[in-house]
Amino acid sequence: MPSSLNALFKPRSIAVVGASRRPDTIGYQIVDNLVRHGYTGVVYPVNPGAAAVHSIAAFPSVAAIPGPVEMAVIVVPKERVLDVVEECGVKGVEALVVISAGFKEVGGEGVVRESRLGEVARKYGMRVVGPNCMGILNTDPAFSMNATFAPSMPPPGPMSFMSQSGAMGVTILDYAAEYGIGIHHFVSVGNKLDLSGNDLVEYWGEDEGTRVMLMYLENFGNPRRFTTLARSMTRRKPIVVVKSGRTKAGARAAASHTGALAGVDVAIDALLAQCGVLRAESVQELFDIAMALEDQPIPAGNRVAIVTNAGGPGIIIADACESQGLEVVELSPETQGRLRGMFPAEASVRNPVDMIASATSKSYRLALDAVLDDPRVDAAIAAFVPPLGVRQVDVASSIVQVYRSRKPSDKPILAVLMGRHGLPEGRAELGDAGVPAYTFPESAARALSALVRYRRWLDRPVQEPARFEVDRDWAQVVLDGARDEGRATLKEHEALQLLHAYGIPVVGHRLVTTLKEAREAARDCGYPVVMKAVAPGVVHKTDVGAVRVDIRSQVELDEAFGDLIRRLGDAEIDLEGILVQRYAKGGRETVIGMSTDPSFGPILMFGLGGIYVEALKDVAFRLAPVSEVDARDMIGSIRGARLLEEFRGEEGVDQRALIETIQRISQMVLDHPDIVELDINPCLAFPDGVLAVDCRVALRESPESHPAHS
Ligand code: ADP
Ligand code: MG
Repeated sequence: MPSSLNALFKPRSIAVVGASRRPDTIGYQIVDNLVRHGYTGVVYPVNPGAAAVHSIAAFPSVAAIPGPVEMAVIVVPKERVLDVVEECGVKGVEALVVISAGFKEVGGEGVVRESRLGEVARKYGMRVVGPNCMGILNTDPAFSMNATFAPSMPPPGPMSFMSQSGAMGVTILDYAAEYGIGIHHFVSVGNKLDLSGNDLVEYWGEDEGTRVMLMYLENFGNPRRFTTLARSMTRRKPIVVVKSGRTKAGARAAASHTGALAGVDVAIDALLAQCGVLRAESVQELFDIAMALEDQPIPAGNRVAIVTNAGGPGIIIADACESQGLEVVELSPETQGRLRGMFPAEASVRNPVDMIASATSKSYRLALDAVLDDPRVDAAIAAFVPPLGVRQVDVASSIVQVYRSRKPSDKPILAVLMGRHGLPEGRAELGDAGVPAYTFPESAARALSALVRYRRWLDRPVQEPARFEVDRDWAQVVLDGARDEGRATLKEHEALQLLHAYGIPVVGHRLVTTLKEAREAARDCGYPVVMKAVAPGVVHKTDVGAVRVDIRSQVELDEAFGDLIRRLGDAEIDLEGILVQRYAKGGRETVIGMSTDPSFGPILMFGLGGIYVEALKDVAFRLAPVSEVDARDMIGSIRGARLLEEFRGEEGVDQRALIETIQRISQMVLDHPDIVELDINPCLAFPDGVLAVDCRVALRESPESHPAHS
């Protein structure tokens, strides 16, 4: 019920419980911020020991307040919070902002206290922000509500910001005020007892004053709900997230390649990519992106023109752009001719356009217009190093003129002001007009690349995951078979059967125990064949010499059979049998896998490399379920994607078959939540299809009675 958040963002009356007369307290700061920033509603300070706080009549208790109270900000010591909450409930308060700390974040009795707080709030149907938060803010002039204890008030604007950390919240508001980043709503959610990031995405998605959502996250409460919500919201409004703790949380012990490669961070990246959320690496980058999103259009493509008055910066910006996946495009001959006519011979009219130090503010106007008229160009970056005699602010106002005269256009303009001298004036001129001004080239490149990523998302078709005809029951029989024997892993031929049940092409194979059977199997599969030992406990067969490939005749087969038995015997490995397979020659080795994260559920992986996958780490992840576009994205986003295309005379592989296999695995792992890890390695890719030749499957230690992700 998103409308129930109105009492938080648009209250007409606020009680500040724990309001204090001492200016160095949070209880004073909240009242002060409300009053100083012109809150349009009524403020009721509650303090049993004071007649007035901040010149406003105070009340001894919430109950003593004569009129209705829509929202209460609670700043009392933790021991008193529950009583106050009860009192608010009785009074009919609709929403609470609990600033007080000493709850879940301290563990022990804090956890108990927090759950009691939740119970009382629920009993009275009150929404809760916090506890352990720094407040809430709405710059809409109709409310002008700053119910935080942060020292700065950001200017009004289209961004709504959620911070999970209170300390970061203060920094964020400072920064927004300093850089003129327009904030609509700001919430510090603290321990997220009730109000969560998901509620905010839902509310802001419908909120007219919010055009961009920004989030500083430390963890995901309910990642699956976030995915569903964000996937549709990002079609309308961009969401930028900075998730702290980027470093990989210690590698987990895993039996599969996928399990070893999939860290928590990987899951988050996958999740954000799949729902069109722009991930920023740092708060700095978040603001870089936010500045560009505030007013600039989303470009049609990634081709950028750079206009500068010095060679060095041009090259630095070009490099930064290229490394962010932008194309520093070759300008059309017409544009180059037009530029040639404007500048001295020493200037460079090729991208990056270097107008040299004699460039004036007028040069910027002419050059920017020329490059933006070029149909090959999707966006422009104007960079300026102040030489003698030209002021930043004049160049800035030229850039602004170009921007205004071309509006509305879908070609964004970003500025990089590289000198310190006159910087604030230049930046203010640009900022007021909505042209983002950066100090560092990398910032501009990162911001523009985020806009391009967002464009790709908007252009992406909306797709539901496909459902394929499969033999689900047979798959279940295979899984039950392993369970009946008390195993939590499948043998290789069982795993291959599982794939077959889900319509994934599997290389012809048979499990044998005697040489005679091996000879028959090889004849049936057709030479050349492969022989592999099937032994419990052997995870990577190649490591123990348990794979023999390209066996071309019965003579070779007899030799290889004896050799395998001997080797495993010497290594004291118990052999269960030998898997004879047709030798599938010439395919490119890919890996398709899955591992399970406790909160994100099944994560799918695609990569290149076969036995080298862990060394190359050229892999992409997505959360299940994946749609066809998701699967296509996975394949396209690995570094070696080109190796799957036609290359040096070799035909390209059948990417459609790979895409379908990924989707079928997605369906399989959701149908059978008992499967916790899976690796098809390799899944050989040919110009006309794929073949799974090796597959490993691990099951949940104890069977699950209710499917977790149905
Ligand atoms: P493991 O991964 O346990 O070491 P595999 O069954 O994946 O064992 O075999 C190792 C490598 O041998 C594969 O990566 C692949 O290059 C090759 N190979 C195995 N089986 C076949 C097959 N049927 N056809 C072609 N190549 C195969
Ligand atoms: Mg293998």
